[in-house]
Amino acid sequence: MEYDVDNIFAKILRKEVPCIKVYEDDHALAFDDINPQAPIHVLVIPKGAYVSMEDFTASASDMEIVTFFRAVGKTARQIGLSTAGYRILANTGDNGMQEVQHLHVHILGGRKMGPMVSI
Ligand code: AMP
Repeated sequence: MEYDVDNIFAKILRKEVPCIKVYEDDHALAFDDINPQAPIHVLVIPKGAYVSMEDFTASASDMEIVTFFRAVGKTARQIGLSTAGYRILANTGDNGMQEVQHLHVHILGGRKMGPMVSI
């Protein structure tokens, strides 16, 4: 799938759409999910134009991949989830039910997250 420069997260990166920012560095941005599924629900996105985890792990540089996953960990620590724990997930593609076509990792916490997959 080709990257759509007008997806909502691209607009957030261009500051055309606001977000509640919780972490930012040169390569990643983290912000509150607009429709939280847990007491704490943050999304971490790379600043590069990658559709999904599939696209990112196939096409991104080693540096982009390392810095992105470090940003996920830094974000979780910054929002105070290290001790209690948290869940990360990245919905990918059609069966993964990915809605926004810019790679994002969900960080969910603030309560026990329940079964790994609910249907
Ligand atoms: P996914 O199903 O993994 O693609 O999840 C997309 C997520 O993006 C959902 O949890 C939405 O609530 C969230 N979302 C959509 N638009 C926005 C927005 N403008 N700001 C923050 N989160 C958003």
